[in-house]
Amino acid sequence: AHSAPDAQRIFDQIHDSFQLKPDALVELTGQFLDEFNVGLSGYGHPMAMIPSFVTGVPDGTETGTFLALDLGGTNMRVCEVVLHGDTTFTLRQQKYKVSDALKTGEATVLFDYLADSVDAFLTSHPPSDAPVSHPTEAEPDVVHLGLTFSFPVEQTALDSGKILTWTKGFSAKHAVGNDVVKLLQDAFDRKHMHVKCVALVNDTVGALLSRAYTAGGCTLGAIFGTGTNGAYVEDVANIRKLANDPAGARGGVMIVNTEWGAFNNTRSHLPSTPYDNALDRLSINPTFQAFEKMISGMYLGEVTRNVLLSLVDAAPKSLLFSGKTTPALNAQWGLDTSVMSAVEEAWEGGDADDKVARENAAPKLSIFDEPDKLDATVVTRLNRVRAVITKELGFPSGLVSLRDAAIVRWACSMVARRAALLSGVAVGTVLIQTGRAVLSGREGTAGKNEPKIGVGVDGSLIQFYPHFEETLRESLRAVVGADIEKRVEIGLAKDGSGVGAALCALQAVKQS
Ligand code: ADP
Repeated sequence: AHSAPDAQRIFDQIHDSFQLKPDALVELTGQFLDEFNVGLSGYGHPMAMIPSFVTGVPDGTETGTFLALDLGGTNMRVCEVVLHGDTTFTLRQQKYKVSDALKTGEATVLFDYLADSVDAFLTSHPPSDAPVSHPTEAEPDVVHLGLTFSFPVEQTALDSGKILTWTKGFSAKHAVGNDVVKLLQDAFDRKHMHVKCVALVNDTVGALLSRAYTAGGCTLGAIFGTGTNGAYVEDVANIRKLANDPAGARGGVMIVNTEWGAFNNTRSHLPSTPYDNALDRLSINPTFQAFEKMISGMYLGEVTRNVLLSLVDAAPKSLLFSGKTTPALNAQWGLDTSVMSAVEEAWEGGDADDKVARENAAPKLSIFDEPDKLDATVVTRLNRVRAVITKELGFPSGLVSLRDAAIVRWACSMVARRAALLSGVAVGTVLIQTGRAVLSGREGTAGKNEPKIGVGVDGSLIQFYPHFEETLRESLRAVVGADIEKRVEIGLAKDGSGVGAALCALQAVKQS
């Protein structure tokens, strides 16, 4: 059997394999900057650095009424957005489930479903009092729609772009290589609907635009939800692959969708563990989206599940749950990232400032050999954690020990902490790329010196995961220093995809 020190060594080893020291964060950022510049120079790179053809950011005075359709995450949304021109908006929306059959079937069936959903929305939500969507004289009864499509697309204009690849569990056939706006417009036309898709926007671009509209300015839009990605305002002169495009000749600025989820797909720098490798191998896109697979909501639960199973299966003696599992724990994707959140919240019990609650080290398991010597507040915390685990993973009552609870809590915080530190690397890279910061250890001074650096964010992880933003900021301090980190104002891009699509549709209608 395992002697106690042996068991402790296994936990310490797993713990070490998930650590990212400040030096490692700085090195990753250097690599990230290199990939940014490769992506800005040419097409076909994993870090795609996609020009959005959006050439300015809103200031809050924009007005109009538009439809928005959002496809790219767990739900699909249709909404009507009214921009009031005073940094406020009104939004009415309906969510529609996208089944796995639709995600992985024929593209035309998926796009017909999207069109049907818009049709259903228009029937159940007749247009607001506000005049609908700047109808043009040629097409007085046409409703203008902005499409938020959160997959890699090679955009060639505000209203066209070729699908490069699917991510996040989608794999619909006969879509890759086609213009996504045309696929949608054809579906509207097949149904003789008076809806025109005038703008195509990534959710990160939408987050940036909507945050700029409500906050009066924004530099970076970032998503930490089902997936992760970011878009930022770049000087057109730096987007060297646009050199022969009319948009390149006009100069000025343009929002670039980085597709940073694909950072370091070769995994030469990312700290991959066997748990990450197992996830990747069984995913529908092995070797792709390496960064995203260590960061986002779709994947963190699975990394954690792999860690827990390795402990259940430890030989010669199980180190968790007395060697027992449950259907949820056995199933791929059976542990949702929201369960990790719940475990950490149960541990903290609302006392987020408590040093004990923020303990990041591997659990010292010997304390469980003498349960009557355990600290009473720790027992209270672990009892709450145990209740969450028992319920969420479906264990019979009485099976999960306090030691098990401590181990699961540790595994969740370890996996989430690594995710938040890596997220800080992505944000720091944008600050350096845009001349707002200098990479720690490098010579030089930042060209831009603004009192506030606006970052618009969206996604359940950054909104709900305990301490995600705080840990992201810890990473940012390592990468660009505390002075810059302090100026970063992270704010929710509320309804970013809907409002962003509306703002983009407005720009498209103005330009046409
Ligand atoms: P999307 O990115 O699809 O628009 P969300 O931002 O809500 O939507 O992200 C959904 C992802 O967030 C899912 O992978 C889910 O596991 C995860 N998630 C949901 N609730 C929470 C939570 N409270 N804490 C952490 N992650 C969560």
